[in-house]
Amino acid sequence: MSEPMQDVVVVGAGIVGAAIAHELSRNELAVTLLDREAEAGFGTSKANSGIIHGGHHTDTDTLKGRLEWVGNQLWDPLCDELGFGFARVGELTVALTEADLPALDHLIENAEEKDIGGVEVWSRDRICAAEPQVTRGVIAGVFSPHTAVVNPYEAVFGLVEAAVANNVRLRTLSPVTDLHHDGDTWTVTTPSATFATRFVVNAAGLGAAAIAHMAGVDGFEIRGRKGEEYLLDKRLRHLVRRVIYPCPTPLSKGTLVIPTYDGTIMVGPTAEEVDDPDDVTTTTAGESTAFAGARRLVPSLSERDVIAQFAGTRATIRGDDFLIGPTEAPGFVNVAGIQSPGLTAAPAIARYVADLLRHGGLEMPPKPLLNMIERPVHFASLTTEQQRTLADTDERYRRIVCRCEFVTEGEVGDAIERGATTVDGLKFRTRAGMGRCQGGFCATRCIELLSADLGIEMSEVTKRGPGSWLVLDRPDDEVMIEPEAP
Ligand SMILES: Cc1cc2nc3c(=O)[nH]c(=O)nc-3n(C[C@H](O)[C@H](O)[C@H](O)COP(=O)(O)OP(=O)(O)OC[C@H]3O[C@@H](n4cnc5c(N)ncnc54)[C@H](O)[C@@H]3O)c2cc1C
Repeated sequence: MSEPMQDVVVVGAGIVGAAIAHELSRNELAVTLLDREAEAGFGTSKANSGIIHGGHHTDTDTLKGRLEWVGNQLWDPLCDELGFGFARVGELTVALTEADLPALDHLIENAEEKDIGGVEVWSRDRICAAEPQVTRGVIAGVFSPHTAVVNPYEAVFGLVEAAVANNVRLRTLSPVTDLHHDGDTWTVTTPSATFATRFVVNAAGLGAAAIAHMAGVDGFEIRGRKGEEYLLDKRLRHLVRRVIYPCPTPLSKGTLVIPTYDGTIMVGPTAEEVDDPDDVTTTTAGESTAFAGARRLVPSLSERDVIAQFAGTRATIRGDDFLIGPTEAPGFVNVAGIQSPGLTAAPAIARYVADLLRHGGLEMPPKPLLNMIERPVHFASLTTEQQRTLADTDERYRRIVCRCEFVTEGEVGDAIERGATTVDGLKFRTRAGMGRCQGGFCATRCIELLSADLGIEMSEVTKRGPGSWLVLDRPDDEVMIEPEAP
């Protein structure tokens, strides 16, 4: 099928592609957002630490260092607009030995160079008073009030929903298989449709080198750097109140202890170079590394409290910086190598890319009026009175689907209306299945509701897209059920 002429096709609906599509949707443009997965955000953007970094961890001589702080500042208005889980909890980077102290000095220098206020050195006593679970072996630390935690998948869904509400065309299950340039038009081929467009933005994460190669643009290779994360039972809520960082190494920021937006404690990530970018296995070795690192910061942490684990893969390129810019192929823009802090920087990357397109000749008349999306209801966060009122007006809010996270049938129905087509899509939008029992109680009900609302057989419902069916319709069917979280 051939689709109408587009101004921009964005390949990849992770946080970066979604933010770009959302930014472009503010203008009178024809934009299509393509992803090979069943839903947006199912790549690296669903499997990370969910931290909006404070900006002082990266130097100013890299693009990622410059975009991190700008991105950090853009998250509040996005959250106001889209209503995803986001909280500025602050952070403490702690020094455990004298040898760590220069790293703290470096963080302060970065903050001064970027004019980031409020970043200050804390004494051991101040740290122990503010975070009593942090090791008594701490000797000093650097505090920043700017660091935040976010539900990254909710942010992707919100960005995409708002973009679609403003005429961006989203096509999932659409892997780009070929790119061809003729005159001033690109032809973007997927198995189900071809798209003619003036500009192509390559935001394909781990697939970015393959997309660039299709466009005839070579010169970089993507290497996968896997990170494992471990989520602990909610009874440990408030074990720490700020994100606790060790002093960083050249390879990574180290293993962190993270109070997530939803009230769990997360331990991770690890950093391991992998040959297979699709390798998102968690391992005993990874767990040992993560907990050994985290226990140096917070000694009371225990593997016994783990309720879920997952891994994501950072898309790194040589030089460890972001690779964003126009290429020798006219109208083809690379947004590649978006490793950490890509989540933090995503809104700034989106503006940067919009500027590149403008300078590349794309006219962007702003829309006089934007369509706003309604914020999703999170029943568990409402007051008892608000819950009663909602339950009185819509009986679906009287029926609890997920007991661990107190998710109602009304929220599940709303998530399906907003675009969830898989069990993971429901989980990431509503938290159904993210609690202590990890879907043991609610998975069947979610499958039934997806089947009923989408008008498909239960055997056609998948966990995260084709091949991940959950219900047998023949005894010899292959079923894939993997523990995965969050
Ligand atoms: C363990 C871990 C922890 C991290 N923690 C943080 C953190 O706390 N803070 C932070 O700022 N950053 C963090 N990051 C980095 C952050 O997650 C990434 O920078 C960010 O998610 C990258 O987003 P993206 O949109 O570029 O990639 P992705 O989310 O991977 O999106 C790329 C999309 O392209 C699609 N795609 C690929 N090939 C094709 C094709 N041929 N056709 C169509 N679609 C295609 C994929 O399906 C995917 O959805 C972390 C990363 C990891 C792995």
